[in-house]
Amino acid sequence: MYGSCPISPGSSHEPGGAVSEIPEPSSRDQTSLLKLRAQQCRFIGSDAGSETIFCGAPTSPGSSWCPWHRRLVYTKPLSPRLA
Ligand SMILES: [Zn+2]
Repeated sequence: MYGSCPISPGSSHEPGGAVSEIPEPSSRDQTSLLKLRAQQCRFIGSDAGSETIFCGAPTSPGSSWCPWHRRLVYTKPLSPRLA
């Protein structure tokens, strides 16, 4: 009997496929910690020198990130599927 089950079914059902297009936040919205407001994305964009730069894009109500970074946070890959 050759009941060997194939390894790696190759599921191509990526959850990111159903996500609508979200525009990447402009770097013009970037701000520093001192200027960061409550409704600005607090995703750390860059750490130039001693000043931390945040995304600064407008966030959705109840969220700490703009839609762009919010998606990044929630779809962060836990383990790479590199065969
Ligand atoms: Zn952001």
